[in-house]
Amino acid sequence: MNSEKFKIGWIGLGKMGNPMSKQILKAGFPLRVYNRSHDKIKALETEGATSATSVKELVEKTDIIFIMVANDDAVKDVFYQENGIFSAQVADKIFINTSTISPELSISLSKELKKKNSHYLDAPVSGSVKQAEDTTLVSIVGGEQVIFEKVKPVLEAYSKKSILVGKNGVGNSAKLAVNTYLGILAQGLAEIIQFSKTKNVDTQDLMEIINNSALGSTFGKIKGEAAINKNYNAAFTLEHLTKDLRLAQNSGFNHPVGNAAYNSFSNAEAELGQEDVIAIIKKLS
Ligand code: NAP
Repeated sequence: MNSEKFKIGWIGLGKMGNPMSKQILKAGFPLRVYNRSHDKIKALETEGATSATSVKELVEKTDIIFIMVANDDAVKDVFYQENGIFSAQVADKIFINTSTISPELSISLSKELKKKNSHYLDAPVSGSVKQAEDTTLVSIVGGEQVIFEKVKPVLEAYSKKSILVGKNGVGNSAKLAVNTYLGILAQGLAEIIQFSKTKNVDTQDLMEIINNSALGSTFGKIKGEAAINKNYNAAFTLEHLTKDLRLAQNSGFNHPVGNAAYNSFSNAEAELGQEDVIAIIKKLS
């Protein structure tokens, strides 16, 4: 099948699913969308997408189906619920799961789909809402090379780079490594901002030093600015980061700094879960 002819389905129009699916439309692919809460569908219809009233309908009317939902439980619902993916005819379809979930779930879904003559890629993304809007996400893919090559032009609608890292599940493991690093960075940035304040170092000055040094990064720029402005509106919720650190722990991550970051974020989750990751600074004094 020529990638130009693919009909694309998209399940999950949250903070990431909305801008990522818009990029698919902008790249010229016909797009059909579904979201559990139907109110989020309208924004995509306005941009030119069609919609489906159930996951089953969406799957049966498209060739490549993207899934971008919250976590393992949400992915299981999408596959196993009444009128979910497994209630549809799935032969020859390609499922691309961009949600950050456990490697184990990806492996089991890929096996189940293979038995039904369909294909699965785990393809979580590195980057956040801004990178989705700028088409600069990095897609981290696990699965078969031949399927990866087939869908690469579609992944590149929202990614500046897509990398096949191994078999099914390996994409998820790589993503958990990346987000453990993100957790360590967010905790570290919050701690040095808080420490500097106690020493009368203005946060603006501190960030100017960091951003002009070898330590400068897009992450530091965005989160430093958020900390200066006390803007904790979530681009990436603290709840989702904690979920990822927990998934890494469940996958056997056991090193001092990452473990400490996990403890810090999980202690803050009940209070600050819906705020941005950098809200962790509120827990420091
Ligand atoms: P979000 O804004 O909270 O959106 C979550 C989406 O999942 C919504 O569409 C929600 O539907 C759907 N969902 C939740 N539970 C469901 C269920 N049981 N059945 C069906 N749909 C369900 O989250 P997000 O920030 O877009 O993140 C989505 C995924 O991407 C997560 O795995 C996250 O870790 C990962 N990620 C996020 C970022 C980021 O910066 N935000 C970056 C990279 C990766 P409703 O609208 O009905 O609630």
